[in-house]
Amino acid sequence: MKFETLTIHKGNHITDKNCPVVQPITLSTTFEHGNEGGVLYTRASNPNRNSLEELLAAMEKGADAAAFSSGNAAGTAVYQALEPGSHIVAPDDMYHGLHNSMVQLFAGVLEVTFVDMSDLEAVKNAIRPNTKLFWVESPSNPLLKITDIRAIAQLAKAQGAIMACDNTFATPVFQNPLDLGADIVMHSSTKYFGGHSDILGGALITKEKDAFWNKIRTVQRVGGAVPSPADCYWLTRSIRTLAYRMKGHAEHAMILAEFLLNHPRVEKVYFPGLKSHPGHAIAASQMSGFGGVVSFTVKGGAEDADRVVSRLKYFVNATSLGGVESLIERRAAVEGPDTLTPPNLLRVSVGLEHTDDLLEDMNQALG
Ligand SMILES: *Cc1c(COP(=O)(O)O)cnc(C)c1O
Repeated sequence: MKFETLTIHKGNHITDKNCPVVQPITLSTTFEHGNEGGVLYTRASNPNRNSLEELLAAMEKGADAAAFSSGNAAGTAVYQALEPGSHIVAPDDMYHGLHNSMVQLFAGVLEVTFVDMSDLEAVKNAIRPNTKLFWVESPSNPLLKITDIRAIAQLAKAQGAIMACDNTFATPVFQNPLDLGADIVMHSSTKYFGGHSDILGGALITKEKDAFWNKIRTVQRVGGAVPSPADCYWLTRSIRTLAYRMKGHAEHAMILAEFLLNHPRVEKVYFPGLKSHPGHAIAASQMSGFGGVVSFTVKGGAEDADRVVSRLKYFVNATSLGGVESLIERRAAVEGPDTLTPPNLLRVSVGLEHTDDLLEDMNQALG
């Protein structure tokens, strides 16, 4: 089955004798002992989560998937599954919430080195005898840095370590890290999977059902950061249109990036689809599209960037990304004082509004 087909049909299990076309929500938290589905208690598993996990595994071509109540819970489950004293190599530009998870929740338990993962020598130099995890995010948030996933996977293999990739920005429509050598893929399904800014969720997908995956399953079931049956239902519903939404987001992002590149008030544009992006060639070798997030710096300082945001009509000044509506935010203001993000950088989640309206709005706001 092709991606579009499997996202529409996978994990739709009908047991009702009235034969509804769509699997309904099963709200019951508990199930009769000895039932055919083998479902016991909804924290451990339930019909809607099972269906969602089957769909997620198929989307990333994995052996299994685990759904979580947020992207942060999914990422944190990977760190929780490591032995105490393990060392992680992680990107210097990564989703700040998971950076905070590593630094704040695992201080004294895990060691972390943050490096520029687009620099392979820097990654090699960061490896220690106890390195057990390479954490990759490509494209990264918010600088859209590109990491050579194949090359990091080789380093991880030589080290006997796990390589996990946050694939939230690319989505499996454009990038399959497991095909490139990753062991685990992570998603914030709050973003493109949900696609309408109304569901919080996260996911992990594994290449193999191995001992490390069993630990992650234990973290999921015992830790209990699981999505509700209703959240699983809505997420499954949203994923049915993912392929078509992503095509729109990527097309619109490319149009906006090219517009910004030629605008006199814009200093620099960060988008891996542009030939001028330092990671463009690697991006083109591992992605079939460049995603829907564009960052750019406005000439001047933070106040000049804030002024552009305040003048926009269609781009909502809000955090997050991946919804049908365009969002914009000055990222450094959200990430706090220790961020590497330039103060005049705006991150745009390019939505599915008509690009004529988006360009006209951006043009008047830039002035
Ligand atoms: C949003 C995001 C996360 C965290 O996901 P939540 O669902 O907000 O917990 C992780 N990684 C990336 C790249 C994200 O954009």
